[in-house]
Amino acid sequence: MKHLERRQQLIATAIELNTSGINQGTSGNVSVRVDEGLLITPSGMTYPSLTPEDIVLMDLEGQASSPRSPRFPSSEWRFHVDIYQQRNDVQAIVHTHSVYATALACLEKSIPAFHYMVAMAGGKDIRCAPYATYGTQTLSDLALVALKDRKACLLAHHGVIATGSDLSRAFALASEVETLSQQYIAALSVGEPTILSDKEMEIVVDKFSNYGLNVSQY
Ligand code: 13P
Ligand code: ZN
Repeated sequence: MKHLERRQQLIATAIELNTSGINQGTSGNVSVRVDEGLLITPSGMTYPSLTPEDIVLMDLEGQASSPRSPRFPSSEWRFHVDIYQQRNDVQAIVHTHSVYATALACLEKSIPAFHYMVAMAGGKDIRCAPYATYGTQTLSDLALVALKDRKACLLAHHGVIATGSDLSRAFALASEVETLSQQYIAALSVGEPTILSDKEMEIVVDKFSNYGLNVSQY
């Protein structure tokens, strides 16, 4: 089967989303870019039950590629396809309904620069896209706007999108957005956190551009 290893990685990531506690049930979905387009989790299936055959191969026009999968792609295939079409920097996408980030999204609240780690998402805030029905082109269009110059966003009354240059980075960013959301809600419960200046956040975004690289990569 084509892309067997990638399909297995996709399933392992999807399972880890739930075991780590940042997703639950059949909520959320995961995809990874491949030469033909993308591999994406099927719609409405529990992750531990997935086999490599269940992963759907799609092209960047949103058509399931041959050989045809026996499964329908995730209902959110539109925003996965649109992100890969418009963002060459993105190789993997994780979508979750993690609890604290979704709580903020239900208040239609973006995450401001209350903590320097917000810069992990690429800028001075993590925006919240306005509400649209799940699985629609409107939701995809709104998500793309919220993701401009960012690697993650919230979706109002819905959840989180996190992207990355590979599956593990997209997963790590989804986890970080959840941690930040929990910290922000904790801070809000005792006061109004002050917000770091744009200048301070630019410094951190710049420092993050080589964070985690080894000495030979500098
Ligand atoms: P799928 O099971 O179709 O991927 O849907 C889950 C989801 O999170 C919809 O937004
Ligand atoms: Zn969702």
